[in-house]
Amino acid sequence: MKASMASDRSIAIPPGGSAANPNGGRVAPGSTIGILGGGQLGRMTALAAAQLGYRSHIFCPDDDAPASQVTPLTTRAGYDDEAALTRFAQSVDVITFEFENIPAGAVRVTGAIKPVRPGLKALETSQDRVAEKRFFEREGIATAPWRPVMDFPALAPALAQIGRPALIKTVRMGYDGKGQARLKDESADLSAAWRSVGGKPCILEGMVDFEREISVIVARGVDGATRCYEPVENRHKDGILDTTTVPAPISAPLAREAEAMAIRAAQALDLVGLLAVEMFVTRDGRILASEMAPRPHNSGHWTMDAANTSQFEQLVRAICGLPLGDPSRFADAVMTNLIGDDIAQWPALITEPNTHLHLYGKTEARPGRKMAHVNRIKR
Ligand code: AMP
Repeated sequence: MKASMASDRSIAIPPGGSAANPNGGRVAPGSTIGILGGGQLGRMTALAAAQLGYRSHIFCPDDDAPASQVTPLTTRAGYDDEAALTRFAQSVDVITFEFENIPAGAVRVTGAIKPVRPGLKALETSQDRVAEKRFFEREGIATAPWRPVMDFPALAPALAQIGRPALIKTVRMGYDGKGQARLKDESADLSAAWRSVGGKPCILEGMVDFEREISVIVARGVDGATRCYEPVENRHKDGILDTTTVPAPISAPLAREAEAMAIRAAQALDLVGLLAVEMFVTRDGRILASEMAPRPHNSGHWTMDAANTSQFEQLVRAICGLPLGDPSRFADAVMTNLIGDDIAQWPALITEPNTHLHLYGKTEARPGRKMAHVNRIKR
């Protein structure tokens, strides 16, 4: 078995490596997956990769990163270190990234040597809110009303068009509610809000009076095949995901519409891997896309214990050119994040029946830091 995998591998990956990938894009078990980023998403991807017989090599600047704890292979270097990126790319067979704020330059350098899946288009579109909104508009996917606000003088005219309440969000590096400020009413101080997001280019977005928030994760393979996880409902606390409930309590037609939106986006991005699309369901039954992430998503953690294929295994299958797995749910579930000091609850949670605890190996519990999650399964 070992010998046949080794020879399979030598056929799939030409020595020296090339971004052009023969063998239908297939990267066989026994090969090495390079992961840009060392957080919990990389950790859980590496664990799923190991289950399918792959090695993982982490590239990240941090010491003792959650992902580095589960594989012996880490390159610890900055995302601008071209020599380190080149050596890393030469030593792996296929590359993915576990967060969308990886500098595009790192994907350009490594992508010239080995396939990076998903590719640059998905990365660059999702890390820039203006590009992301324009992408949704081009694809006929509805969003909340928005305007680009590249400097402070542009804020007041944009607000006059959008109306209050509204949110300003930095174009780049925003996640978990970071880089956002609310403009509630007439008394809101525009210059204070502008300063609070760092005076950087922003978008202004109308507040949506939503009924609920949902998300859809779709996988797309090297051959263009897609498989969708069903929509889930997400509740946030202080801008950070708190719970995900599956199934989402929405009608079947609405669920199919949400899935179709995510599939359309993945196809338009020519994405290979996973795409998570967060959406609002409005009180009058419309779906508006909020944002997207071309990677495993916190709202997909339930799949580890209640779906036939976890989102992490699905990512591995997609980027390695294997057939996509069955994404269907075999039990209802509620995922709850343990943020910051919530981690102190773990001794009680580990004894709870029908509950699966996933700890990320982080030693310092800072406020707002995702430390672990639990999946409570209802059979
Ligand atoms: P984001 O970082 O853009 O995903 O925002 C984090 C959370 O803030 C979202 O999941 C919503 O709960 C809330 N939020 C963001 N944008 C809006 C909006 N336009 N209207 C209402 N709530 C929003």
